Amino acid sequence: MSGFFSLSDRVLSASNKALQKLAGRFAEIDRISEQNTEKVLAAFQKHRVADTMFAGTSGYGYSDTGRDTLDLIYADVFGAEAALVRIGFVNGTHALTAALFGAMAGGGTLLSATGLPYDTLCSVIGLQGGHPGSLAEWGVSYKQVELLPDGAPDLERIFDAASDQGVKAVLVQRSRGYSLRPALSCAAIKSIAEYVHAANPGAAVIVDNCYGEFVETLEPTQAGADLIAGSLIKNPGGGLAPTGGYLAGSRELVAAAAARLTAPGIGGECGSSLGQNRLLYQGLFLAPHTVSQALKTAVFCAGIMEELGFETYPASGEPRSDIIQAVKLGDAESLRRFCRGIQMGAPVDSFVTPEPWDMPGYDCPVVMAAGAFIQGASIELSADGPMREPFAAYLQGGLTFESGKLGVMLAAEHLINRQ
Ligand SMILES: *Cc1c(COP(=O)(O)O)cnc(C)c1O
Repeated sequence: MSGFFSLSDRVLSASNKALQKLAGRFAEIDRISEQNTEKVLAAFQKHRVADTMFAGTSGYGYSDTGRDTLDLIYADVFGAEAALVRIGFVNGTHALTAALFGAMAGGGTLLSATGLPYDTLCSVIGLQGGHPGSLAEWGVSYKQVELLPDGAPDLERIFDAASDQGVKAVLVQRSRGYSLRPALSCAAIKSIAEYVHAANPGAAVIVDNCYGEFVETLEPTQAGADLIAGSLIKNPGGGLAPTGGYLAGSRELVAAAAARLTAPGIGGECGSSLGQNRLLYQGLFLAPHTVSQALKTAVFCAGIMEELGFETYPASGEPRSDIIQAVKLGDAESLRRFCRGIQMGAPVDSFVTPEPWDMPGYDCPVVMAAGAFIQGASIELSADGPMREPFAAYLQGGLTFESGKLGVMLAAEHLINRQ
């Protein structure tokens, strides 16, 4: 390193050891990125992407060929019948909400197969009460099957719960979220889908795919899921998409979700792209590579923190199906220092000190480090953690491995060298 940042010998040596140990992992990440890049490029060519598709529409957004072609490209990339990619989705929660409301039209039971869903989805389902417009208010009942103690899905219980023919949809969360459980691989999602479909052929398997896109060479829609949804300011936006969300899956479920996003009878045919198409295309083109950079940053973070004596989830050598790296820091001050260090490595707002605050929807203060070009984009290097036992930091993103690695080293430095 050239000395623009001061790093101690202890951190530099832990970094070198980690890099040596992880060469094989990095080569594997490169292979996945190459395969996914081919998949994306082939879809661009098949659909004859042309410069004219980047021109925006305004108003109703009729005949937005750029927008409509991008839907077809997403469908191909995810191995699905149809897709809906829109800047009109305000975030991933919104895309998942459209997916759930579409699938649950007419009532019935929603079953979560992976324990309690992501915090924001609890409000959507109506688990936290008091939220007008939740699924509960629309007459949808809810039940959940816990994960097994090792974090694997409980296939027998899922089969039993899904056998109730009142179950119309089964929600599966791929990523770990704010927990130390492992992310579900597409192979594990395939088993869940097989059990659900065997128990209840009418039930749709809907996967919260946030943070999972392009981590493996398959996606859940190629492993039996009927519908997936996610955020464009995470993996599939490649760091360029300024906002938005996507859905991919069966024609019927995508159409039902589109009717929720806009209006019945209008669906995906309206929604102007306001000149953002190029960023969504270019972001998708970059996404397999950007995800590989985030994955290397995560694996490196695990490696260096292990060298420094911390517990990591997953460990540096373990398989991955999302870009999140959890590190158990053990006490409040360590969590704050780690996040402060990540912030010090950011290209934007590097000078600010993240402080824990009471975020809506969380039961304790949460500290967040993010110095991103796009507000809240967690495909950019970021770290956060709830201020409670086991005081774990959840790190994700890194647009380039070079900058991600530096951010992680600064976090390690700030953590272990306390002045
Ligand atoms: C990010 C995320 C969501 C959606 O969150 P938004 O902030 O609304 O985009 C849902 N589930 C998981 C697991 C996530 O990581």
